[in-house]
Amino acid sequence: MNEADSDKLASALDQLGLTKKDNAEDADLVVLNSCVVRQSAEDKVSYRVSISQEFKKDRPEQMLVLMGCMVGPNSENLQKRFPSVDMFMRPQDFNPLLEQIAELNDVDLEGCISNYAHSNPGISCHVPIIKGCDFMCSFCIIPYRRGRQESRTIRDIVSEVSILVDRGVKEITLLGQTVDAYGHDLNEDVDLADLLGHVNDITGLERIRFLTSHPSFMSEKIIESINELPKVCEHINLPIQAGNDVVLERMRRPYTNDHYRRLVDDIRKIVPSVTISTDIIVGFPGESDEQFQDTLKIVEDLEFSKVHSAEYSNRPGTIASRQLKDDIPVRIKRDRRKMIDAVQETIQEKNNRDSVGDLHSVLIEGRRKEQWYGRNRNDKLVYTSTNTKNLRNSIVEIKIEDSSPWSLTGSVTKTNLG
Ligand code: SF4
Repeated sequence: MNEADSDKLASALDQLGLTKKDNAEDADLVVLNSCVVRQSAEDKVSYRVSISQEFKKDRPEQMLVLMGCMVGPNSENLQKRFPSVDMFMRPQDFNPLLEQIAELNDVDLEGCISNYAHSNPGISCHVPIIKGCDFMCSFCIIPYRRGRQESRTIRDIVSEVSILVDRGVKEITLLGQTVDAYGHDLNEDVDLADLLGHVNDITGLERIRFLTSHPSFMSEKIIESINELPKVCEHINLPIQAGNDVVLERMRRPYTNDHYRRLVDDIRKIVPSVTISTDIIVGFPGESDEQFQDTLKIVEDLEFSKVHSAEYSNRPGTIASRQLKDDIPVRIKRDRRKMIDAVQETIQEKNNRDSVGDLHSVLIEGRRKEQWYGRNRNDKLVYTSTNTKNLRNSIVEIKIEDSSPWSLTGSVTKTNLG
C-alpha cells in the first residue's frame, strides 16, 4: 500500500513538472514514506529521517517531508522529534505538499494533475481500491493512521486500470486492508466480485490479483468469481493471525479457528487450483504454549502456500498496547516464529516438489542471477535459465524441472501467451 501511495505521489509531482533525482542529497524535495506496522519498521524510518536531517544541514533549502503511517492526526510530537522536517502528511493525504509545489511553481493544481495513476509503471502495478479499515484488531495501528474504510467507485478504479494498461501494465493487484470488504461502505450495492467483473473486461489487461482478504468477508460470490473470470489469478492471501479462539478473541478477530478451516475447505472445493497464503502473529500478549500449539497445528493442517510470520510488536496507542501486557519474552517469540517457519518450509518443499513436471503460465518480471524470473498464477516465484531471447514483460509457459521451498525452476515451452 505504501509503495502504491509513493507511486501516486510521484505521478502527481511528475505532472507538476518535477523530475526525479537519483540521489536524495541532490534533490530539492525529499519525501519519506513511513510504515509503523512493527517497531522494526518504525526504527528504520526514524533512522532514515535522522540521516536526511543530517544531509539537510548542508542544504537548508531542501524540503524534507515525512508521510505515511508514522504521521497521525497530531504531529506535534513528531515535530519535536524531527525539527528539520518541513511537512508531515498523513497516508494518502498528498494535497498539502501538492498545493505548496503548485504555488511555488505558479501553476494551477487542478489543471495540472489529470489522474494519480503511476506515470511510469512496470509490467505489474498495485492499485489501492480502499482507503482505511473498519476493524479495530487489538494489535493493529493501521485504522488509527489510515482512518475508516472508504472504497473508491468502480468507475474510478476502472479508469485508473485502463490508463495503466495503456502504459504497458499487464497485471494489477487491487489493494485494500480488507479488500474483500470492498464496496460495503458505498451507496451502490456492489462488492469485490462486481469490481473484479468490470476490471476483467478491460482489454489488454492479462492478470488480476487482490490483497489482503479478511476471513469475515470472503463470500461465495467472490470465490466463484475467481473461477469464472479468466484474468483473476487463483491465489488468496487470507490472514488467520492465530489458530486459537481465545487468542483470536483477544486480537479482536471476529471468527473462530473452525470458521477459518471451513472457509479454506470451501475455497478449495470451489477453486481446486487455488493457493492460499496467510499471516500469523506469534507471542501475542498472554499466548500460552498450548495456544501457540493450536496455531502450529493449523499451519500443519492447512498447508498454506506461504506464511508471513511475525513476532508480536507492541504498537503504542493500539487496544492491545493499552489493555494487555506484552508479557511473552523476546526469546520465546523468536522460537515460536522459527517453529512456524520450519514447519512451513517443509510444507513448501513438498508441495513445490509435487509441481515438477507441471506446466505453468508465468509473467516474466525481470532477470536475476543470469535467469529470467516471474510469478505463476498461484503467486509462486518461477525461474528459467532459457536464455535465447528477451522474455521481460511477456507471459510464457514453463515446464517445471526443479524446485526448492521458495521457488520453481524450469524451461520455457511456449512464448507470447499474452
Ligand atoms: S483488518 Fe487488518 S488493517 Fe484492519 S485493523 Fe485488522 S489487521 Fe489492521
